[in-house]
Amino acid sequence: MKKRALVTGITGQDGPYLAKLLLEKNYDVYGLLPRRSKQDFYNLNYLSIKKDVEYVVGDVTDYNCMHKVISKIKPHEVYNLAAQSFVGNSWELSSVTSDINAFGPLNILNAIKNVDEKIKFYQASTSELYGNSCEKIQNENTKFEPSSPYAIAKLYAYWMTVNFRKSYNMFCTNGILFNHESPIRGIEFVTRKISDGVAQIKCGKQKYLTLGNLDAKRDWGFAGDYVEAMWLMMQAEKPDDFVVATNTQFSIRDFLRLAFKEVNISNWEQYIKINKDFKRPVDVNSLCGNYNKAKNTLGWVPKTSFKELVQLMVREDLKRHEKQNI
Ligand code: NAP
Repeated sequence: MKKRALVTGITGQDGPYLAKLLLEKNYDVYGLLPRRSKQDFYNLNYLSIKKDVEYVVGDVTDYNCMHKVISKIKPHEVYNLAAQSFVGNSWELSSVTSDINAFGPLNILNAIKNVDEKIKFYQASTSELYGNSCEKIQNENTKFEPSSPYAIAKLYAYWMTVNFRKSYNMFCTNGILFNHESPIRGIEFVTRKISDGVAQIKCGKQKYLTLGNLDAKRDWGFAGDYVEAMWLMMQAEKPDDFVVATNTQFSIRDFLRLAFKEVNISNWEQYIKINKDFKRPVDVNSLCGNYNKAKNTLGWVPKTSFKELVQLMVREDLKRHEKQNI
């Protein structure tokens, strides 16, 4: 019998990569589509899977709807990727962020419990839970110090996931994913802003890139690699929480240097403007993850290097902008 998976956040970055992987593994994939005035399938089209996914209208903030969707599909696995995922906006949108990122997962967990406790649940947890942690490298035992409304809402969902696992013996797992990027990363995120901006500068469409703190350091991986870890977590013998990362760290400055190198621009600093207003009320300065537990338990390792990731993103944006020029 074919397995059925419900993926929330199907139109985002990770949803399409995960759906593609699940389709390759012969799942029937159902994507939850929240009501929008204009539906955007760009990312699903980019991976050529739009027509292979079955869509169900729904919103994670609505318990009745999630109960109905889960009763109807009876999925074997639910991957909750839906979120207000932009940390920078979470101060202005703190209530919305909490509704989607904290109570959304709670609605799904309750719906699963009421429909069929055997349905497996994956929660998209995040390295932002660590915030400005004192530990240089973070793993599953590192103390959480969330520093934004986004991370605080995600912390609630993290603990609810653990709590449902412990209280009801349900298969609930947290993937604590460090930053992961791709050519379909949202344009508001710094990596994509850079890859797109560099491509536009190369094509003469844009003069400058305006950025905030160039010294923030992150552990950056490729989304295509990370969705494999999500799936592996759901196939594990027992549910648990796993860090997914690369154990390497680079600054935004490093990203810029490589991105401009890809388009043969060496004097890249002259194209950068710094806007201090981009600074967040609390900035997370440095994150780097130890993925040993995922490696030892799931056999997962990242495949794409930082350099390859930057090259891929810049090449794809350049291709798009060059095509639009014709
Ligand atoms: P993303 O591109 O921002 O996608 C978020 C998705 O959630 C979109 O499809 C969005 O649909 C959907 N969504 C928003 N509100 C919803 C609602 N109320 N009900 C149903 N769907 C809703 O995020 P991503 O980069 O793919 O990340 C996937 C998940 O991993 C998120 O939970 C994120 O917080 C988490 N995460 C991401 C990273 C990373 O580096 N990418 C790292 C750690 C954790 P619309 O576009 O129509 O609003």
